[in-house]
Amino acid sequence: MKVSFHPLDLKLKHTFKISREAKDTQSNVIVSLIDEEGNTSGIGEAAPSLFFRENQTNVIEMFRQSAGLLRDKNPFDIEDITAQLKEKFPGNAAARAAIDIALHDLVSKTLKIPLYKLLGLNPHHAMVTSFTIGMDTMEKMCEKIEEVKDLPLLKIKVGCDDDVEILKELRKITMAVFRVDANTGWTEEGAIKRLHRMEELGVELVEQPFPIGNLESLARIKNKVKIPIFADEDVVDSKDIPRLINAVDGINIKLMKCGGIREALRMIHTARAHGLKIMVGCNIESSVSITAAAHLMSLADYIDLDGNLLVSNDPYEGVYFEKGWLSLPEREGLGVRLKTE
Ligand code: MG
Repeated sequence: MKVSFHPLDLKLKHTFKISREAKDTQSNVIVSLIDEEGNTSGIGEAAPSLFFRENQTNVIEMFRQSAGLLRDKNPFDIEDITAQLKEKFPGNAAARAAIDIALHDLVSKTLKIPLYKLLGLNPHHAMVTSFTIGMDTMEKMCEKIEEVKDLPLLKIKVGCDDDVEILKELRKITMAVFRVDANTGWTEEGAIKRLHRMEELGVELVEQPFPIGNLESLARIKNKVKIPIFADEDVVDSKDIPRLINAVDGINIKLMKCGGIREALRMIHTARAHGLKIMVGCNIESSVSITAAAHLMSLADYIDLDGNLLVSNDPYEGVYFEKGWLSLPEREGLGVRLKTE
């Protein structure tokens, strides 16, 4: 296989603010793997996260360094290839995810079938994704909700002292179900009271309330609140799951955190074996890797695949979005192509 890649700088429609950072752009990289005959190519995307010390530069460097390893490989050897890449580039999960996605695209295109068929998954299991409302002034948050008022499910970024007050105000203008994501922004003190008030405001679940590693705090609040608690920053790949079983109700699986579709499947099976619920989530990504994640939605309880909806210059189209509902394209591979307009 030959490797080619190019940067993809995505512009956010609104400044994206969470409890620890704010940004207007997201610098991703698109990778293509071309088979030996030069007939078929698979596409993948890396959406690196600074939280995990990845960026566009080290993703590109990883692709450069992988070219030799991939040159003589058969794309059907996905397990072998991804295992070797993990050994060689353990800290480059987003870059590895891009290659894993491109391998899945290439193999299913070679077989002339959609990816969900390769994975043995049901394509008719359409689901509603949450749509993220970043932290902002009350006025701006209301404006953002007004823009998406036909959507049934919103994920509100929280993590400041007046979270409950903000949700109360937002509840006045929308009947949408709320999920909240504190992105490690809370402490244990006051969390139970806060979650009880959020229950009354129709919050369906809370993601990553505390900083990484506070599993004892999570275990203490878990049985005292009805709202399911999901780990996100606390769970990277399948090896992190067993220690979370008494601390959370579910986990947020992202291709960019875990290194791709193969590891996401292992995480799903590991989480199910431990009785945990599954959310499939994302970073700020184009339709390339969002569509890849959407192929797994029939295995999830919740999906949060809105990264492509938050940007204004996604060059690709793939998974369909209508009033919050996601459905898969029936084309070969991921089903992703460049937009034509
Ligand atoms: Mg999260």
